[in-house]
Amino acid sequence: MRVEKFVWDLTYACPLQCVHCYSESGRRPARTPSPELVARIADVIIASGARRVSMSGGEPLLVRGWDEAARRMRDAGLHVSVFTSGWLVDEAAARTLAGCASSVTVSMDGATESTHDRIRGRRGSFLRARAALGLLARVKREREAAGASCYALTTDYTVVRSNAGEVDAFVADVTRAFPGLDEVRFGMAVPEGPAAEEDFVARELLTDDEMHALHDARGRLAALAAEGVRVSVTDMRYYIPYSPYGGPGAAIAHIEPDGQLRAFGVYEAKVGNVVDEPFEAVWERALAWRRDPFVMERIASIASIRDWARAARELDRRFGSDADRKRIALRVLKSPPRPVAEAARGLDAA
Ligand code: SF4
Repeated sequence: MRVEKFVWDLTYACPLQCVHCYSESGRRPARTPSPELVARIADVIIASGARRVSMSGGEPLLVRGWDEAARRMRDAGLHVSVFTSGWLVDEAAARTLAGCASSVTVSMDGATESTHDRIRGRRGSFLRARAALGLLARVKREREAAGASCYALTTDYTVVRSNAGEVDAFVADVTRAFPGLDEVRFGMAVPEGPAAEEDFVARELLTDDEMHALHDARGRLAALAAEGVRVSVTDMRYYIPYSPYGGPGAAIAHIEPDGQLRAFGVYEAKVGNVVDEPFEAVWERALAWRRDPFVMERIASIASIRDWARAARELDRRFGSDADRKRIALRVLKSPPRPVAEAARGLDAA
């Protein structure tokens, strides 16, 4: 199977600590690569023939050489998406992004400061994300007015139970506050990493009914948007390997900051390093991992979101490295008790 898309975590350093962060950024060694290693990984991605790459993390703007890598990949014909919390986006960063990214996504997790900052784990993150969106929208308008091309601008909202009631207000506000915004994208938190642990599942992960209600709310949300702004709801079951929903997800290669390739998406299993041996050999091992009887049995057992979380916990504990397993054990112990999440009122109304 040919790789269609790369997800590249450029670093696990991040100014924020979101409760749903599948990559556990800010809570694991950053493993930030040198500019030389960034360039070598970009070469591997270009040579693979893939059509798309998502540069995320962690916060990709922290990594020296991210912009040159993005520019080279885009010039080689890839669609380059950069995902940022917005914390580090200033005028210079916005103009750099305009020169190297096909699309820029700023993550926001609430219509209110209190909700966003609580979920994103840092006071001030709501205001900085909005400032980033404002800057990026203005730079885009200016460039387009001058006849120059610019990134597509998106905001991405990860839906959990305690912010689901704010999705309508978010669409109505953000699509009017930032002229130049192209899309608002919703997707439920995926039960991977810390979001697969039982306390998160009990408090914050959408139930199957809430997930279906979110998908059914697409029309209502689109009707709330300002004219010309697209609203989409991603079916996150796309990330389950070999699920009936997962078709294109199977052709995604996920690279960690130092070049290690994950066997599949957000699971902890690693199958080799793409700068140490030919990419095709490492990719073949990733595909073989997906055919492992234990993996296939666990994936086949997924009939609900709760099953998916259980399977993710089992796969991470079996296939993670010793260091991964130690971190996972601390993750459970460190997880603080929090109030029971507010019911997902916005979804009930769908
Ligand atoms: S901003 Fe992104 S990478 Fe950073 S903690 Fe939040 S979800 Fe993780």
